[in-house]
Parts: sequence; structure tokens; C-alpha cells
Amino acid sequence: MKPDPEAGLAARDGACLWHPYTQMLNRPAPLEVVRGAGVYLYTADGRRYLDGVSSWWVNTHGHAHPKLNAALARQADTLEHVIFAGCTHPPAVELAERLVALLPAGLTRVFYSDNGSTAVEVALKLAWQYWQNRGEPERRTFIALERAYHGDTVGAMSVSAATSFTAPFGPILFPVVRVADPGCCAGADGRLRQRGSSECLADLEAQLEKLGAGVAGVVVEPMLQGVAGMIVQPPEYLAGVRRLCDRYGTLLLADEVFTGFGRTGRMFACEHAQVAPDIICLSKGLTAGYMPLAATAATEAIYESFLSEDRGRTFFHGHSYTANPLACAVGLASLDIFRDEDVLGRIARLEAQLRAGLEPLGELPWVGDVRVIGGVGVVELAPAPGAAGGYFDEVGPRVARAFLDRGLLIRPLGNVVYFMPPYAITDDEAAWALGEIAAVVRAVDEL
Ligand code: PMP
Repeated sequence: MKPDPEAGLAARDGACLWHPYTQMLNRPAPLEVVRGAGVYLYTADGRRYLDGVSSWWVNTHGHAHPKLNAALARQADTLEHVIFAGCTHPPAVELAERLVALLPAGLTRVFYSDNGSTAVEVALKLAWQYWQNRGEPERRTFIALERAYHGDTVGAMSVSAATSFTAPFGPILFPVVRVADPGCCAGADGRLRQRGSSECLADLEAQLEKLGAGVAGVVVEPMLQGVAGMIVQPPEYLAGVRRLCDRYGTLLLADEVFTGFGRTGRMFACEHAQVAPDIICLSKGLTAGYMPLAATAATEAIYESFLSEDRGRTFFHGHSYTANPLACAVGLASLDIFRDEDVLGRIARLEAQLRAGLEPLGELPWVGDVRVIGGVGVVELAPAPGAAGGYFDEVGPRVARAFLDRGLLIRPLGNVVYFMPPYAITDDEAAWALGEIAAVVRAVDEL
């Protein structure tokens, strides 16, 4: 049936669909994307959009990449899926081996699941049960960052900041101790300021001191807190967190669901501080944005605590699609591209281009801050007088609309405008997008 443009949302969206994060009433119709190629998405009405958000931060090498497509097709002809309890398969084994070789030293055991939130759930449950297995069950409190975001399942929401995302579920979330996170934040006078590492590390140390042997682990998004507003941390902070976790004998859990696979300019964000966490969570870029897959990697010491004849020590966690072979095969092909095509070198060039294109915007009085790390460029607009600021600042949808009109898919986090294209973007494509971003930011008052 031909869509009737007059019928609006019901015809274009499918009335039965329930989209994430979508206002139930008065929502704009979603883009009907029918094809992707490289950095571009093509819609049913014949328009082309540059994917400036890497399709929810997952895409790395571009859409419909020939090598990834071929790997997926090959695997589909061989083995599409098999139960991963009591069975194994070559793509899962090879991907785990290659991840262990790439990960910070000491992360030797890989547990698969199927999305970023489950990677975090697995990490929390591993840490919790590790202390029980070790005979220290009183270690049951997690410390997390003030502006954390770790996913939408119940455990992941518990360690995430209390926001509108989690508010309806407060009573079913477990209590977590919060500590200040470094980077750009609003000061008492409402103006943006940089909160430093030492201030935040002192806060963490005070909590570790107070809770003593009750801490199960410290959970961080290393170097870059995404959902909170693309907040960049200095590497000294992460190094300090590692030092404090060692000093107080607790675990460091690094959520690299977003930052992993090059997004901050290193393969893993922990490398900026030369830090190895005890547990790391990976997803998103793991399959280059193709398939839902996650991996939670842990140290040998954690793994060994589960080695027992006693069934009570078993990690009873497994999803139907754990280690899906199609996803693992694409993950392997993606690692080949990282290895063979100097993708990290390409991200370094993109980073330089983002700095050159965005930093001049910092001089505009309505721009609060400009920051760039790896393949992520951020322009934080100072909230207008009386505006909400933060995620619900209504400047976000206005700016997003202006970008769409110019052929650029960008979804600001409220007043935080960010550009995060697939690494496959060419210099010319990035230059064009940065020109559009500059034009929209310069004229933001007129939107
Ligand atoms: N952790 C972090 C740091 C994230 O940014 C996200 C998603 N944006 C998640 C976890 C959850 O991942 P998913 O959406 O795949 O469940």
C-alpha cells in the first residue's frame, strides 16, 4: 500500500510501533530509512542524511560495508546460531582470543551477552558474586559516578544517575553510593566550570574510607560520559580511580560500551590512562554497528573464584542469543578492518578536523564549551535564560530539525550538540558536516 502523506504518523510509522525515547503525543514523524551506504542513510522519500550519530553510537566503518556484509553472508551460510551453554563455535572462540589480545593486560576471560545493558548487568553480577565466592559477602555496595549512564535494565539503571530515565522506577532500583565526576559541570552560579580530578578523587576516597570493606566495586564510564552530555574526563582521574581501588582492595568496573573500539581515539578509553580495570563492558562498536552483541571481560582472579564443584558458585546467567555466530563473525571482520586499514590513524585525523572546525565556535557568547575527544566533537550551548538546560532543553529538537533540513542526522542531548560520524567519513564529508554545524550554531537564535 502506498503511504498516504496526509495520514501522517499512522501511515508512515506504523501505528503499532512503540519507539524508544519518543514522546507519545505531538512527536515528529520518524525518518523512514530504507538504505544505508558509507556515512549516509537514505529515506523512503528520496532524501539522503549524513549519519552524524553513528546510529546511536554503534557504527564504526560505515553502513553496508562490503567486507562486513561478506563476513555476515558467509557466516549465515555456515552457522547462524547455536546454544552457547554446552556448545561453542569458531567465531566466538576467535573473537574472544582477539579481544583478549587487544584489551588492557589482565582481562583474560570473556563472557558474551547481547547488548550494552546486559554487558553491565553481567559485570555487576560477576562482581557481586565474586565477593561471595571469595567469602566476603559484606562487599555489596557499588560506587558510581554522579552523572552515570549504564543502560536501561534494572541493574544498569541502579548504577546510573537518578534522572527522568530512571525516576518512575526508583523503588525497584538498588541503592548505590554516588561520587562526583570530573569535567564540565554547572557551578553554583549556573555557569559552566571544570571540576578537577583531585576534587573528585578526594570524594571517592572519602567514600571508600567510610564504606571500608563494604565496597563491591567502583563503576565508571572511562574518559567520556556519553548520555550525561559528552563529558570528557582528564586521564589522571581514571588513573587515580585505579589507584584508589587498589588501595582499598575493591574492583574497578569500566563501562566501555560507548567508548570502546576507537570512539575516544584509542581502541579502549582505559588506554588513555594506561589503566586495566578488573572488569570491562563492551558492545556497540564490537560489531561495527551491525549486530547486537556484548562482551564482559574479567581478570583471571575473578574467573578463578567461580571455579568449583559447588553449583552455588556457578554464574547462572545466559541469554538466548549469547555469542551469536553472525554477530561474532562481523565482530571479527571489524577487527580485521581496524588492523588492516589504520582506522585509529583515521580517527586521529578526524579528531584534528573536529577541533579545527568546532573550536572557533567557542568564541560565540551562547556557546558554553567546546570539547573534542577522538571521533566525538561537542558544542555545549549555554542554556538560554529560563530554559530547562540539560537533556530536556528544548533547543535540542530545534537544532536537530535544522540539521535534518540540511541533510545531517544529529540528535543533541538537550543543549549539548555533538557530532560523532562513522570513522569511515572522508575529509570532504567531515568538512561539509562541520560547515553545516557551524552555520546552525552561529544562527541558533533564529531557529
Ligand atoms: N553503557 C553506556 C556507557 C552507554 O552509553 C550505553 C548506551 N548508550 C549503554 C551502557 C547501554 O547499551 P545498550 O543501549 O546497548 O543497552
